[in-house]
Amino acid sequence: MRRYRIVEAGNECLVTEEPASLNEALELARKNFDPRPYQRGPWESTIWVDLLVREEVWDDETGTWRQVAEARRLETVFPPEPPCLPDRQHDWRLFRTIGHWPGNVYEDICVHCGRYQVTDTWARNPADGTRGLVSTEYREADEASMEWISKRKEERSDV
Ligand SMILES: [Zn+2]
Repeated sequence: MRRYRIVEAGNECLVTEEPASLNEALELARKNFDPRPYQRGPWESTIWVDLLVREEVWDDETGTWRQVAEARRLETVFPPEPPCLPDRQHDWRLFRTIGHWPGNVYEDICVHCGRYQVTDTWARNPADGTRGLVSTEYREADEASMEWISKRKEERSDV
């Protein structure tokens, strides 16, 4: 007998004997993964959720399940995009780039509502501390972004 235990962010959520292999069990874990509980607010940053699958076989001698293998992966949960102005879709334009390769942070500003979309190409993997994950975060419009928009509009109307 063989079974798979799926553990999401440290919480066991499913025990199943259906998958035929560890890879299939990991696929099932990914398919069942629901990002919504992690998207707590519209302006939260990107987070990563640890999915762990444990493969266990029944040991007749001891009368217990014994772990024989495990596999894991990180699921990326991007924050939901906040709304733009009524009847508008965000139009993100590059405002500035901070840092340099490979650790760039791109700040985009929506030319309609002035919100920021911040993309970090060098975010830290919470599971092992390595860098290089891509994260997205939204920030509210501020004086600087509204100024940038109106300046941009002026420059364009001069043409
Ligand atoms: Zn917008």
